[in-house]
Amino acid sequence: MTEQERMHCDEVVASLLEYLDGEIDDARRALIDDHLAECRGCFSRAEFERALRDRMRSLASAPPPDSLRRRLKAIIDEF
Ligand SMILES: [Zn+2]
Repeated sequence: MTEQERMHCDEVVASLLEYLDGEIDDARRALIDDHLAECRGCFSRAEFERALRDRMRSLASAPPPDSLRRRLKAIIDEF
C-alpha cells in the first residue's frame, strides 16, 4: 500500500459510523482496518463507538439489568 492510499484520521473518524454499521464498501473498510491497526487514537475512538453501540443495542433489546441479574441468580440457585 502506498502512502497516498492511507487515510487520514479525520477521514477515518468521519467514516467510523458507516464502518461500524457495515455500510461501507470493502475497499474503504480495508483502509480503515489498516489505519486502526496503526493509529492508537482512532483505534480508541472506534472501540469507544463500538462499545457505545453495543450498550445501546443491549439496552434496546435485553431485559433491564435488574431482572436479568435476578434471573441469573435464580438459575445459579437451582444448581
Ligand atoms: Zn488515526
